[in-house]
Amino acid sequence: MKRAKVNQNINLNDYNDIWVIGEQREGKIHPVTIELIGEAKKLAGEINKKVVVVVAGYEINEEVNKLLYYGVDKVIYLSNPLLKNFSTDGYSISISNLILERKPEIVLVGATSIGRDLGPRIAAKVGTGLVADCTMLSIDPEDKKLLQTRPAFGGNLMATIICPINRPQMATVRPGVMKKATHIDRPTGVVEVVAPAITEADIVAKVVKIMKSSKKTVDLTDAKIIVSGGRGVKGPEGFELIKALAEKLGGEVGASRACIDSGWIDSMHQIGQTGTTVRPEVYFACGISGAIQHLAGMSDSKYIVAINSDPAAPIFNVCDLGIVGDLKEVIPAMIEEIEKNKT
Ligand code: FAD
Repeated sequence: MKRAKVNQNINLNDYNDIWVIGEQREGKIHPVTIELIGEAKKLAGEINKKVVVVVAGYEINEEVNKLLYYGVDKVIYLSNPLLKNFSTDGYSISISNLILERKPEIVLVGATSIGRDLGPRIAAKVGTGLVADCTMLSIDPEDKKLLQTRPAFGGNLMATIICPINRPQMATVRPGVMKKATHIDRPTGVVEVVAPAITEADIVAKVVKIMKSSKKTVDLTDAKIIVSGGRGVKGPEGFELIKALAEKLGGEVGASRACIDSGWIDSMHQIGQTGTTVRPEVYFACGISGAIQHLAGMSDSKYIVAINSDPAAPIFNVCDLGIVGDLKEVIPAMIEEIEKNKT
């Protein structure tokens, strides 16, 4: 495929629209796409721009149409058999050529494993910068530039970064942080199908086989109830109690980084700045002190219950209900009470 040329002499006024790079896996739209649409619509309201979602794939027309029900102005569906599965080359060439041709002002990508691979390659191909792993986006009220905020220096401070002279302004955004766009009944947007002229020769690394991990995966981002354990559980066996409570409540198991670092539980359970960001209906923090890096990933939970033996633990400053006590006594008592109320 012929690669479009990067324009070095940029006129900022030529750039329009906010693009969300939609993500699909095995033909199903990833939830981060809906979160990015929610964020793009918020930003678009401030600078009066259109929201466009770009999705690459093949034979996924039905899933693509569903995106219109999140109130976007347009979905550009990059359809080609070579785009059925993600490939760094296929996707980055197709999307960057479209960016160079259509000139969006802002491009948002999910900071998933795919997005972290794709985002920087697109940015390099179109000759712009990229702020990775953003947790907050806003518009500068004065010059209307995108303010991209992310943790910096080991999470000790938040840095707000701008892209002053290049376009588009590109960011990867952490899954689970932004609020999902609301579903609407009567969409007004349109789907445009574009067939990128990529060839086998463009894709250097080929997908030979997709193998799924046999590990049970945890869905922390969409969980309504999360029961998390910290160093206060005292060891891997302490997580049996955490799992028992989570099971009784139909929730998922989370953990602080201290437990992951100690090898008590798999890293996919980690919540916080360097783990998953969650916002469940109820978050139980059991034996977790409430370090700033842990709070960064769960303080937006609707209702926080903390169980800690230390009445001065910082977690009590952010919780809605605090229980001072030994989790080995409190959790079994809670399970017993749940059992009683069932019958
Ligand atoms: P501790 O701080 O040791 O707290 C244990 C708590 O358990 C104490 O409050 C204690 O009173 C209580 N306790 C003890 N026994 C009992 C009992 N029997 N019953 C009830 N309570 C009891 N941390 C994260 O969690 N997520 C992250 O993503 C993350 N990212 C980080 C990134 C960076 C760059 C850095 C520097 C740190 C990061 N951390 C992260 C680590 C963070 O700073 C804390 O060290 C960690 O969160 C502490 O975990 P904890 O609360 O389980 O342990």
